[in-house]
Amino acid sequence: MPEELFEVARNKIDVIEGVGAVTADGNVRVGDDEIEANTVILATGSWPGRCSGSSSASACSTPSASWALRELPQKMAVIGAGASGAEIASAYGRLGVEVTLLEALPQILPLEDEEIAKAAAREIRKQNVKIVTEANVESAEVSDDGVELTYGDGETERFDYLAIAAGRGPDVEGLGLEDAGVTTGENGRVEVDGRMRTSADGVYAIGDLVPGPALAHKASDEGVIAAEDAAGMETHALDYGAIPAATFCHPQVASFGMTEKQARDAGYDVVIGKVPMGAVGAPTVYGDRTGMIKIVGDKRYGEILGAHMAGARATDLISELVAVHDLEGGFAEVARIVHPHPTFSEATLEAARSAWCRCGRRCGSPINRRPGTRTSPVSSSAPPLRLRAATFAAASGRVVAFSLAALRQAFAAGRDLSQVDNVLIAAAACELHPRAVLKAIESRSVAERLSAVSAEAATRLVGALPAIAVAGKVSEGPAAVETAATSLATSS
Ligand SMILES: Cc1cc2nc3c(=O)[nH]c(=O)nc-3n(C[C@H](O)[C@H](O)[C@H](O)COP(=O)(O)OP(=O)(O)OC[C@H]3O[C@@H](n4cnc5c(N)ncnc54)[C@H](O)[C@@H]3O)c2cc1C
Repeated sequence: MPEELFEVARNKIDVIEGVGAVTADGNVRVGDDEIEANTVILATGSWPGRCSGSSSASACSTPSASWALRELPQKMAVIGAGASGAEIASAYGRLGVEVTLLEALPQILPLEDEEIAKAAAREIRKQNVKIVTEANVESAEVSDDGVELTYGDGETERFDYLAIAAGRGPDVEGLGLEDAGVTTGENGRVEVDGRMRTSADGVYAIGDLVPGPALAHKASDEGVIAAEDAAGMETHALDYGAIPAATFCHPQVASFGMTEKQARDAGYDVVIGKVPMGAVGAPTVYGDRTGMIKIVGDKRYGEILGAHMAGARATDLISELVAVHDLEGGFAEVARIVHPHPTFSEATLEAARSAWCRCGRRCGSPINRRPGTRTSPVSSSAPPLRLRAATFAAASGRVVAFSLAALRQAFAAGRDLSQVDNVLIAAAACELHPRAVLKAIESRSVAERLSAVSAEAATRLVGALPAIAVAGKVSEGPAAVETAATSLATSS
């Protein structure tokens, strides 16, 4: 048994070595054996792109094999400048290999924000790497001792080694999907719902096998969701728009959410906050001032629509903005959070301040900063975060704030906010006067937003309310909204 599976075995999990397939009855077949199963979780991952022609030749391989070369080639070509390709090119370039990085699209790291990809490309070029975008590779003649590559305008060049970092596909071969009634969709990926259930009863699928970014942390969280649901526990669908991506080239690149272009194309009133890493102290202290942080914000609500970073600690820094976004904070709030000095995280703070200042410090509502406005029903014994939305709305008293607060309150309660009654209940829970709210929801944009939020709540399987604070009293559990509303009515 491989060493890493000992820990698994210690948790009373039987490990069966072999190639598995799901059967028509929803069991698992391994060789000649059939294993009875109430639940099957398919997690077979993805196949790498293959070298055409002589696939056994050692001069051409997948990203995984490219990390284990015993000798450094003199000249290396990398096809595909996504995360894997950029990492390989940047690493081998820094080891002194003459690298050519070929990308079919107009920028390296095609999923990243254009400005960040440019910043990364600028640095990677300094690492012995020639970058060719819109490369259009026509052919690769692979032999044991080299590769003849034809790309661009018919230019042919010889390399000692070729890494193919493009064209991964879901590993469904021989998995018995058709027999078991498991439906596949775009690019052959297995279709699943928010609980990771496939179209076949008792069969779940996760990871590279299903839609979404091919990332280890995404696969791992989907595994938890599938296991929770299979065990009959309450679960919560992933917010695929908030999954951070991390690329370990130099400088590191990390991001989540919309790029500037995506946000503008989607019609948001966009505000950008950005700073070069060198603008704060720590990058100088640690001797690496490369890169930048860019926040793509929405002027109207102060939301962080996306965050994009290139820099020495980018893959760690991204988590702060993902967390703030997930807890429904905006860039105005990040701008008011004290960050330690001297750290790279001060660049995040400065980017948030930049976004906030660029919209005249009007979007969002940093409630913690206005003395006396925290009329807070927050009791000292209750965890403040759970109560944040109610406090937020109460403190700012604005329609914008109300819709964000309602987003949390009614969203968490799984209510349909296109229904006026539900909006009023949420308003009561936020300690807002019903008349003000009724006036607010006459505005079409607010009503549309609330409907959109309700629809999203439904897809994210939100069904239970954590807590609500009203008139100094904290109500918890499924009936929290009603209890809070009643308590408000009684006290007024
Ligand atoms: C070189 C490289 C570097 C990467 N770096 C990062 C990174 O830094 N960060 C990140 O987030 N992601 C990274 N990824 C992506 C990440 O590894 C995948 O997204 C993640 O592993 C997907 O998890 P999974 O469980 O779907 O599949 P996998 O982790 O690929 O596991 C699938 C397993 O199933 C086995 N299997 C397949 N078919 C069968 C069968 N029929 N029966 C039994 N077993 C079977 C396979 O052998 C494999 O062991 C990287 C990928 C590569 C190739």
